[in-house]
Amino acid sequence: MITKKILVTGGAGFLGRHLCDQLLAQGHHVICLDNFHTGRRSNIESFMKEPLFTLLDHDVCDPLSLDVDEIYNLACPASPIHYQTDPVKTVKTCVMGAINMLDLARQNGAKILQASTSEVYGDPQVHPQNEAYWGHVNPIGLRSCYDEGKRCAETLFYDYHRQYGVNIRVLRIFNTYGPYMQVGDGRVISNFIVQALTGQPITIYGEGQQTRSFCYRDDLIRGMIDLMGADNGSTDPVNIGNPTETTILQLATLILDMTGSSSELIFNPLPQDDPKQRQPDIKRSKDILGWTPKVRLQEGLVRTIAYFEATL
Ligand code: NAD
Ligand code: UDP
Repeated sequence: MITKKILVTGGAGFLGRHLCDQLLAQGHHVICLDNFHTGRRSNIESFMKEPLFTLLDHDVCDPLSLDVDEIYNLACPASPIHYQTDPVKTVKTCVMGAINMLDLARQNGAKILQASTSEVYGDPQVHPQNEAYWGHVNPIGLRSCYDEGKRCAETLFYDYHRQYGVNIRVLRIFNTYGPYMQVGDGRVISNFIVQALTGQPITIYGEGQQTRSFCYRDDLIRGMIDLMGADNGSTDPVNIGNPTETTILQLATLILDMTGSSSELIFNPLPQDDPKQRQPDIKRSKDILGWTPKVRLQEGLVRTIAYFEATL
């Protein structure tokens, strides 16, 4: 195997940390770029002694010159409470980050993968969502900084590809969970597990009838590395997610059951523009990558609950 120089932006975050781990295990030189906005130094502490690991304390909004073979662009807060805290910065991270990383890819003739999102489909009117769907996004709401930022980043990826021939990959990630999410991440699975384990009320937004389809971290990162490696000439966007759909109320009940918690359920207002349903159509990932998820929700939750039990 050829050792590559691989840049992972957002490498100190939840998904980036596992990506760095997997790429190091494959023998690559990994450069982790992060500004520690939502990522943590403790996530990557164990890599610091690895000779093939380099940390770059850098903001993707600032240009960068570096010698690299591949770039995974993950830098961006992903939890609604985080990306809505400084929405202008979120847009800058998505858009200026994409421009800077695409320029870097262009300078190096490097392959570049964008960590895009199911949020490009917004509150979808097509179900399940396939990659041909253009989405249903409010351009001026509280979620827009993220949704439209990520949509603009995709636009930039395809324009750099058409205009400058940059070799791109675009991965649309559906809700992913697992170990190394922060206790205060704010997304639903970490919230419910932490609440259940500490005896706090389980905070259901709305009536809990909205759905999501949860993918375990290891499945997602395997799909991401597979897509980067796929050389079939296609640059089309690819959904990666687990199609098993569940309501948020069902998820709460499952987590209460699995943790043996007696936390009560409380119902809080539904946030603005919260998508009512979400399920990936993964026909394309099956066809071009042979990728399907392997970890069932219950199995992934066992591992994630064990992580939080050890962390709290
Ligand atoms: P995360 O918040 O844990 O990680 C994001 C990382 O990016 C953090 O380490 C953060 O410090 C870093 N970062 C943020 N802004 C930066 C900037 N301006 N410059 C440099 N670094 C910056 O989130 P995550 O769940 O690991 O998500 C990683 C990527 O995957 C994001 O791009 C996100 O949009 C995408 N994604 C994730 C999910 C999911 O369910 N986890 C779903 C869809 C898309
Ligand atoms: N949610 C909830 N309680 C929480 C956190 C989230 O009911 O404590 C809901 C949220 O309203 C949404 C779903 O769970 O309908 C998934 O939310 P998350 O923030 O994890 O991801 P996203 O909304 O970006 O899919």
